[in-house]
Amino acid sequence: MGYGKSIAAFTEAKKLMPGGVNSPVRAFKSVNMDPIFMASGNGATITDIDGNTYIDYVLSWGPLILGHAHPEVVKAIQKTAELGTSFGAPTLMENEMAKLVMERVPSIEMVRMVSSGTEATMSALRVARGYTGRNKILKFEGCYHGHADSLLIKAGSGVATLGLPDSPGVPDSVAQNTLTVPYNDLESVRLAFQKFGDEIAAVIVEPVAGNMGVVPPNEGFLQELRNLTTEFGTILIFDEVMTGFRVGYNCAQGHYGVTPDMTCLGKVIGGGLPVGAFGGKREIMQQVAPSGSIYQAGTLSGNPLAMTAGFETLSRLDESSYDLFVERGDQLEAGFRAAAEKYNIPHTVNRAGSMIGFFFTNEPVVDFASAKTSDTDLFADYYRLMAEEGIFLPPSQFEGMFLSTAHTEEHIAKTVDAFHTVFAKLAR
Ligand code: PLP
Repeated sequence: MGYGKSIAAFTEAKKLMPGGVNSPVRAFKSVNMDPIFMASGNGATITDIDGNTYIDYVLSWGPLILGHAHPEVVKAIQKTAELGTSFGAPTLMENEMAKLVMERVPSIEMVRMVSSGTEATMSALRVARGYTGRNKILKFEGCYHGHADSLLIKAGSGVATLGLPDSPGVPDSVAQNTLTVPYNDLESVRLAFQKFGDEIAAVIVEPVAGNMGVVPPNEGFLQELRNLTTEFGTILIFDEVMTGFRVGYNCAQGHYGVTPDMTCLGKVIGGGLPVGAFGGKREIMQQVAPSGSIYQAGTLSGNPLAMTAGFETLSRLDESSYDLFVERGDQLEAGFRAAAEKYNIPHTVNRAGSMIGFFFTNEPVVDFASAKTSDTDLFADYYRLMAEEGIFLPPSQFEGMFLSTAHTEEHIAKTVDAFHTVFAKLAR
């Protein structure tokens, strides 16, 4: 498998864009490799500019739940494009999309469309702060909610540390309003509430964490967040940008039976085009401009192409899609475990719906600290060898794999064969 054209393209790209990419994780740094430049995708496969074809478990970092270039989605986008790509005035498709989202996610009584997950979470926080008149927010270590200042906070150690900025450019004054506690650690959440309870505007949480590998919530974790936020008059925000329509037909909140006050969506609801959304209780959402005074806006919000791609994608998912993900996930997990056991590779597997996390550690992974026990050097070797076998994985230990409805039993079987080939080479 040659990467000559990708290497040349990256050499040029590095002169044009910071690190040669438009989003950092695409630089493949954590697997010590140059990025692979992609040319096309078809169903569960993706082809690079050197002509190598891979089974794709990245799926554009989650959005492509039907696989690449689904013919009906492409057709609908083409039809919409012919009528004009943006008007800066309302369109009927925005109503249709809002109704569909609200039908699938009943806790969303009103919704506002935006153009990315970052915009969704950033706006939801502003609304929570505006609505409650409080400044602090509580997030969980290892959860990523996009790159808005107040969410780009590194977890501190200790029980409920005041945040430290994760990036130069985030003012300390902003970071100090972000409390960070370990995922799945209710004791720390309780302590944070004891100390700061009536100052906390919102708790924001990925109901299944997907940005430290895949880490599902412990039994009762989400429910207790619901109980505590209700007790303290804090807004509970589920960031379902990744889990939305991936973990279940009614998102993670339907799957786990816990109802947040507000929800952020993205990825799948854009069907591969740039979309995000935030919504929730009518009483809260009515505070958003122009019905209320909390400002939020976007030139391309509710964009016709993006609404069409999202609507077509959601319309093609039904309950049976999620049964299929369980079936394929079972096959993939069993194959991974068997290969890892055969070659004595340390491993832990976490799954939720169509999100799958393989860790190279024998410890249970329940939070960021335990995720970090995974052998990242081993992951980097595994990553490169899997690519050689024609399997395209997220190039970081701390990202999950995704399934689409286009992944067949044969795709999974081929992936399992690759696990065997690769683990034989990595055997200790
Ligand atoms: N929230 C979660 C849970 C995410 O996984 C992401 C992106 O990966 C975001 C928010 C930010 O979304 P975007 O990259 O569209 O800004």
